[in-house]
Amino acid sequence: MTSAIYPGSFDPVTMGHLDVIRRSAAIVDHLIVAVLNNGAKSPLFSVSERVSMLKDVTRDLPNVEVMSFSGLLVDFAKQNSVTLIIRGLRAVTDFESELAMAQTNRVICPGIETFFLCTSLRYAYLSSSTVKEVAQNHGDISQLVPPSVVPKIYEKYGIKH
Ligand code: ADP
Repeated sequence: MTSAIYPGSFDPVTMGHLDVIRRSAAIVDHLIVAVLNNGAKSPLFSVSERVSMLKDVTRDLPNVEVMSFSGLLVDFAKQNSVTLIIRGLRAVTDFESELAMAQTNRVICPGIETFFLCTSLRYAYLSSSTVKEVAQNHGDISQLVPPSVVPKIYEKYGIKH
């Protein structure tokens, strides 16, 4: 059985993330979407809110499990007996940091592999920070995030929608 972890901040989950999740879930037998509990960042949504939004939007994917983790990704992978990490690549700007992260993970944990999925063209521009920027300024985010996530974002900014 092939298992993989798709880690990220998912603050909040976007259509781009969901695209990577769907495509990965079609390739592996079991996909763990892992929300990073990173105390250093000041997120819009709490980890439990992010986990619950992800669970909601992946309800139709039976081989997808949503979890949270803190600490090193490789330790979380070991705890779950997973050796494959999936990351999404949007543009060349993602490449440098993603490459360094993948190489670091292999150095500190030989046997861990990272697979990169190229973004679907229609989501190539999309990031969680773009979504927050647009929403905060009362813009339309209906094409950027799954429908159930839209009101939750406006609510965070106290915007009636
Ligand atoms: P992180 O803080 O770990 O980068 P993100 O939630 O921003 O967490 O992203 C998680 C992963 O999803 C990263 O590999 C990122 O490159 C990828 N990703 C984000 N947005 C998109 C998108 N629109 N298309 C494809 N991959 C994406």
